[in-house]
Amino acid sequence: MSFDPAWEAPKDLLAGRVVVVTGASEGIGRAVARGLAAHGATVVAFARTVARLESLYDEITGAGGPEPVIQAVDLEGLDQNDARTLARALEDAFGRIDGLLHNASQLGPRVPLASYDPAAWKRVMQVNLDAGFLLTQAFLPLLEAGTDPLVLFTSSGVGRAPRAYWGAYAVSKAATEALVTIFADELENVSPVRFASLNPGGTRTAMRAAAYPGEDPRTLPAPEDLVPLYLWLFGASRDAAIDGARIDARAWLGIGG
Ligand code: NAP
Repeated sequence: MSFDPAWEAPKDLLAGRVVVVTGASEGIGRAVARGLAAHGATVVAFARTVARLESLYDEITGAGGPEPVIQAVDLEGLDQNDARTLARALEDAFGRIDGLLHNASQLGPRVPLASYDPAAWKRVMQVNLDAGFLLTQAFLPLLEAGTDPLVLFTSSGVGRAPRAYWGAYAVSKAATEALVTIFADELENVSPVRFASLNPGGTRTAMRAAAYPGEDPRTLPAPEDLVPLYLWLFGASRDAAIDGARIDARAWLGIGG
């Protein structure tokens, strides 16, 4: 069973749920954070840029959504202690979380591996892959106490079919797919937590513009176009067999291109 593009999220779909979104300050993460809150979720928003997190807070509360938690986090420096500290703060505030969206990513250099800067390699792998592993590991007990808990990792077309000049970004996304498979396999039957990866497909954001500077952004779906699928995944996918799934957002949403 998969998503029906005609599905419409009930206004109170996520009432009482707590969902953590990394990279919530702009692009897809921001649109999803707003969408989750508009359907009743308390969003815990992570990113580096405090001013953008504050404007997200204002947008959510201004629209009458539950008060979000905004937290400045630089995933580049995140270690196991930091992840555990964040988990303790969420434990104190909520006692559980119901969803975790790993959305933050760095594109990194678009150059051949032969000349790829090792420092940039480490940075991209840390933000795109290691931080997701560390946060998931630290948040697992909180997720196990949640309702229909889902950990959704964000992949990419080049994570599923790597190609030249995508460097650490593609490697980090391919490894993310492996991480999802292993988490889902290890915890199937012993934990209520489900794991999936989602490839948004080309979407009108700053990252896409950096990767494809010659492209007309008006030819691309907006981040808001993807939101119904995220709502369904976090709020209505309990009976769908999505554990371990590799979701292609465009195909599931019926968006061409
Ligand atoms: P984006 O517009 O560049 O936004 C990236 C987000 O990640 C921002 O909120 C940014 O916030 C945050 N971030 C970056 N580095 C961070 C760090 N070190 N610590 C914490 N937060 C950090 O990207 P997007 O296009 O929305 O992409 C969202 C996800 O979709 C990514 O995983 C991307 O790989 C994937 N994706 C996108 C497309 C596309 O066409 N857009 C296609 C395939 C996959 P701050 O700068 O405030 O920290």
